[in-house]
Amino acid sequence: MRKVIIIRYGELFLKGKNRNYFETIFANNIKTALEGIEYTLVKRGGRIYLRDFDDMDAEEMVERLKKVFGLHSMSVAFETANDMSSIFEAAKLVCKEEGTFKVEAHRGDKRYPKTSVEVAKELGGMLLSVYRKLKVDVHTPSFTVGVDIREDGTALIFGESTEGAGGMPVGTAGKGLLLISGGIDSPVAGHMIAKRGMRVECLHFHSYPYTNMQAKEKVVDLATVLSGYSGVTQLYTVSVTHIQEEIHAKCRPDFMITLLRRFMYRIAERHALRIGAQCLITGESLGQVASQTIEGMTSSNSVVEKLPVLRPLVGFDKNEIIDRAVKMGTYDISILPYEDCCTVFLPDFPAIRPKLKDILAEEKKLDVEGLIEEAFTTLEKITF
Ligand code: ATP
Ligand code: MG
Repeated sequence: MRKVIIIRYGELFLKGKNRNYFETIFANNIKTALEGIEYTLVKRGGRIYLRDFDDMDAEEMVERLKKVFGLHSMSVAFETANDMSSIFEAAKLVCKEEGTFKVEAHRGDKRYPKTSVEVAKELGGMLLSVYRKLKVDVHTPSFTVGVDIREDGTALIFGESTEGAGGMPVGTAGKGLLLISGGIDSPVAGHMIAKRGMRVECLHFHSYPYTNMQAKEKVVDLATVLSGYSGVTQLYTVSVTHIQEEIHAKCRPDFMITLLRRFMYRIAERHALRIGAQCLITGESLGQVASQTIEGMTSSNSVVEKLPVLRPLVGFDKNEIIDRAVKMGTYDISILPYEDCCTVFLPDFPAIRPKLKDILAEEKKLDVEGLIEEAFTTLEKITF
């Protein structure tokens, strides 16, 4: 008897002809997640099976697999010979000793002498005879014992399944560039888009030396957590220090954020095009702060010429975003008190509904192209 992990994937079925392509990328993402652990991977019948691993590794493998998008659910199963007494021995290990349960049997091998209903009944009876506090409840059991009789003369026996992250395998939906700050929202936005199968790379703007190195470390930590899901390979950083100094020196103070955002979006789009990213992703949520009114979004959006800007959090309340940040493991990092570049030179009263004609008038006072080129000379790349 040995352990096997059964991996079930959902939405891949929808993809018809492309299924092979999706499955291959999915399997590769599983391999990346399990790097350093020895096992073999078998694709069969719309499932992926991991076997030949050290039983001690099973828990760690399940933990890592929870982050792989495209994975619907998984079970650690025992693989045995397909006779009833071997199946019973394994079932005793996965079955709880009390509570309500049912046995769910599936027979892949149609030559097997018993039907799946017969297997379920017989095994259920055997389990009841050893665990006296168990009760059968076929409609609303508190747990299920699964039996899968396979064509190769083996059977898989499993208890509870573990929910996976769902979504689509990362790498099946192109590549996007996430504007990542040190805040709560943007890592969540990256996570949501990665869940739809997009590879997500990160770009962060800092105002060093007005912001310290810890602020940058924080973003590195956030991107590291995100990369556990999204397979992020690069975090790019660009300094907007001089841009902020110029805005501060020459423009209306209440336009600082608005003007800075437009620089960020311009730089981001150019960088995205250079690295082959097909969209920008931000953590904006409508109405959350001054720069995120529809007027604020119109202002920053209007400098992006070629790429769509994805704002997956646009309709979310802060609480919903926080819940997701906690679940994905970035919340505790995000709330560490380090300064973001936007808080440097922050005006007391930012313009809440800036008019485009006023913005353009302020922007005329700056050498936009020159400042962007200069900012690119500060580009750094951190590879994970
Ligand atoms: P977050 O929690 O992601 O910081 P926020 O609610 O604080 O978001 P803003 O600070 O207005 O909102 O930023 C809106 C979005 O602009 C962010 O979600 C992020 O995508 C982008 N952004 C803001 N500051 C930076 C930065 N320093 N570097 C890169 N992107 C940024
Ligand atoms: Mg922020």
